[in-house]
Amino acid sequence: MVKWTKVAVGLGSNLSNPASQLDEACNKLRASPHVLNFRCSSYFHSKPLGPEDQPDFVNAAAVFETDLTPEHLLALLQAFEKRQGRVKLRHWGERLIDLDILLYGNQQFNQPNLTVPHPFLTERDFVLLPLAELWPDVMIPGRGQIQNIIMQLNSRYVV
Ligand code: ADP
Ligand code: MG
Repeated sequence: MVKWTKVAVGLGSNLSNPASQLDEACNKLRASPHVLNFRCSSYFHSKPLGPEDQPDFVNAAAVFETDLTPEHLLALLQAFEKRQGRVKLRHWGERLIDLDILLYGNQQFNQPNLTVPHPFLTERDFVLLPLAELWPDVMIPGRGQIQNIIMQLNSRYVV
């Protein structure tokens, strides 16, 4: 029996019509034989982190089930990034498409090339908000309910 695991992936782009880059990545994921019950959030616009002399980002989250191991899912996402024409320009800089694993079931692990949940998941509203739209009662392993994390993040900005 093949085991299917519910996962969440973060999508981001700030080059070459970002919304259409996200559309393309979603279509490729939806069409993969390793992906079932694919859903994608609305698209959220955000200011760049890191270098500020780059265009604004469009971000989204996708939730689906996969029969791939975490390592094979990362390899699939990286192959999609490459095929879509992503080249690394600079750290936290502009990118055609960025596909990150946010959650893999309720697993928590830290390997040299893969940290799950994604290390910045709970600090970035442009990742948390799309994920909460799709999966409002998700528990982030080690961190708790997504709604509580969003409230804590928002309270930082209240004076
Ligand atoms: P960014 O940190 O801006 O997403 P990259 O997409 O270039 O930068 O990814 C850098 C490295 O992050 C990848 O080579 C990958 O091995 C590693 N990585 C660690 N954890 C994750 C994760 N949860 N999802 C995707 N990549 C990850
Ligand atoms: Mg990435």
